[in-house]
Amino acid sequence: MTEAKYIWMDGEFVNWHDANVHVLSHTLHYGNGAIEGTKAYKTVDGRCAIFKLNEHTQRLLNSSKMTLMNVPFSLEELNKAQIELLQKNELFEGAYIRPLVYLGYGVMGLYHKEAPVKVSCAAWEWGAYLGEEGLKKGVRVKISSFTRTPNTSGMGKAKAVANYLNSQMAKYEAVEAGYDEALLRDDQGYIAEASGACFFIVRDGKLITPPNDNSLESITQATVIELAGDMGIEVVRRRISREEVYIADEAFFTGTAAEITPIRDVDARVIGCGSRGPITEKIQSAYFDVVAGKNEKYLRYLTYVN
Ligand code: PMP
Repeated sequence: MTEAKYIWMDGEFVNWHDANVHVLSHTLHYGNGAIEGTKAYKTVDGRCAIFKLNEHTQRLLNSSKMTLMNVPFSLEELNKAQIELLQKNELFEGAYIRPLVYLGYGVMGLYHKEAPVKVSCAAWEWGAYLGEEGLKKGVRVKISSFTRTPNTSGMGKAKAVANYLNSQMAKYEAVEAGYDEALLRDDQGYIAEASGACFFIVRDGKLITPPNDNSLESITQATVIELAGDMGIEVVRRRISREEVYIADEAFFTGTAAEITPIRDVDARVIGCGSRGPITEKIQSAYFDVVAGKNEKYLRYLTYVN
């Protein structure tokens, strides 16, 4: 991890190495917290802009509401904190931003109503989540033995820290078995999402992606759906079964960190040409244009920091 100079904690900027918490912080023990993963890119005019800042901050507040944490900062205050964080750290070449809402020190036991709600935002330089090579050639995927936590037992729409135990177990299993990423199914056996990204297949020139019934409401997935509309590519939102994945013409992941990552094979079945497919390439290139401020229509999603 590339260190930056400052981290924002509860309204103050503190030195990177002083951004510590007490070992009896509630979240460390019981896992109730909410995160965001937001990205800033260097833009075509040499400046730097955060992509869909408002959408990410709103989702952080939504996740916190779902998991019963009253965030003591407004949407505007949190947006400002993230802009200033990049400015103070002079992160103008692009950065990953990680806001966190967590329960601090002072209360033990599961009932957390009186636990202090704390907020931090860190940012650092972070390259392609599934590797530069993965963006070009595609990644290798395993259908997980883990079921994506069902709606009856979790808060799937929340980007809740607790949800990432499920993701971590699936990711570890996949990587140890020689794959790059895990694809989790829901409790009915249909594709839900990857450990940290949403999922699309291409069949007969159409994009198919599951509804968000069993996944995070992915901000990148929404961008791709909007872009596909502009490009005249039809998007269908419906359930996808495991065997349909195997015979897809193309497949890819979407996520703020994963961006648009093509999928090369799934469980030893080669997907399409076994590399980045033509529609995936078009979508990927359009996405990179959007985040770099090259597409006028999408400039409204960019918050320039310099
Ligand atoms: N699902 C999960 C479990 C994730 O962690 C992420 C990454 N935030 C996504 C989907 C993709 O969401 P987004 O496009 O908003 O980054």
